[in-house]
Amino acid sequence: MSLHIFKFGGTSVGSVAAIEAVARIVEHERRAHQLAIVVSAQNGVTDALLRGANRAAEGDGETYQRSAAELRQRHLETARALITDPDEQQAYAASVARLLDEFCTLCHGFQVLGEVTPRALDTIAALGERLNAPLVAAALRARGVPAEAVDAGELIVTDDHYGDASPLMGPTIERTQARLRPLLAAGGIPVITGFLGATPTGTTTTLGRGGSDYSAAIIGAALDADAVVFYKEVDGVMTADPRIVPDARVVQRIAYDEISELAYFGAKVLHPKTIQPLIDKNIPVYFKNTFNPEHPGTLVSPRGAAGGGTIKAVTAIRNLSMLTVAGRGMLGVPGIAARTFTAVARVHASVLMISQASSEQSICFVIPSRHTEAVKRSLEQELQPEIARRDIDGVFVQDDAVIVTVVGAGIRTTPGIAWRIFAALGERNINVHAIALGSSECSICLVVTAADADEAVRAIHPLTYQ
Ligand code: ASP
Ligand code: MG
Repeated sequence: MSLHIFKFGGTSVGSVAAIEAVARIVEHERRAHQLAIVVSAQNGVTDALLRGANRAAEGDGETYQRSAAELRQRHLETARALITDPDEQQAYAASVARLLDEFCTLCHGFQVLGEVTPRALDTIAALGERLNAPLVAAALRARGVPAEAVDAGELIVTDDHYGDASPLMGPTIERTQARLRPLLAAGGIPVITGFLGATPTGTTTTLGRGGSDYSAAIIGAALDADAVVFYKEVDGVMTADPRIVPDARVVQRIAYDEISELAYFGAKVLHPKTIQPLIDKNIPVYFKNTFNPEHPGTLVSPRGAAGGGTIKAVTAIRNLSMLTVAGRGMLGVPGIAARTFTAVARVHASVLMISQASSEQSICFVIPSRHTEAVKRSLEQELQPEIARRDIDGVFVQDDAVIVTVVGAGIRTTPGIAWRIFAALGERNINVHAIALGSSECSICLVVTAADADEAVRAIHPLTYQ
């Protein structure tokens, strides 16, 4: 039988009705596939845990206690509605008590010390998944599904980069196979905590916020799964944001590199690094809707739609600024670009897009607006000698910039696509301030002003087809 990994996000496992929807999916799908399930914390729980801990470190002894009480109530109420067996109820209640006691003890410690370390924060953050996986597993057992909660600390071995740990794939594959293969072979369905792992010596780590997707991919790769399905609250990857484009559609098939571009450019799909373990093994990925499981969703595979070409989706990232370093004296002077981006990196700003005219008289790049002030100052300092000599005129800022990204392998392969994009924008009098071709050549980024952004997305959307 083929093995599928199902990952359910916070909203998909955040209420009685949601967990019931999950259970129906599992009951149905287990007839066709072996399943391993990865779950997030219930929605909002990770935030509440981290807030409690951070406030405690600032001397607030109440927030964490209130959070603990609320979390206890929320999880136990959900459990009462879903778990029928009194022994199961009791066992779950005991594990909730133990985890929340740990939370309160740690927070009390932070309050006394007046600080919290990244390492301790990971132990706190991981509690959300640890509260939830046993609940989902027990809810499944209540319906006769042989589910077993598994702590990912037993499976995913990571480095000690707390808050954003990376998996060590060798030992992870070994442990995951050793722990899960026998369980799967016996017909069991593991319900695994997403988001967390452990260092080789057993200290809890997390894979970064939203990291449960990554967990599912790591486990899928470690088990050589036949597919990994990400269940969310939407039918799949959309051709555009339906709030902007009312006739946006679900993309049926999309390629790995196309989805990476989309993720990078703000569509809330998947962090590109998330699916890397699956790309490495050519494992197909699906996006499906927990609350509308009959919908086929989106398939992400090595190659996109048959026939390759075309534009798949158009998306916009907002709250950006475009900075331009310009001056005639830059022509032919080596090292200006390197110094420019060193100055940007010095203030820890990430650059979303770069374009340099071949006349070499200006470099422009786009960063999140919150970094603008610091970056401008850093650049003016770095380039001070050139500015003083008038080789460089200065650093110019355009706020209110939006990057509109058009994604699709067709951009590389279909002659005239770029022209059609610009024609569509020209017809609506939308001015494009900068352009860059994505490095994978399956995206084009255009900088427009915030006022034009929605209109630009609407103008381009008719060019998407499947
Ligand atoms: N619960 C974690 C978070 O909120 C991980 C996840 O949901 O994927 O970041
Ligand atoms: Mg989440």
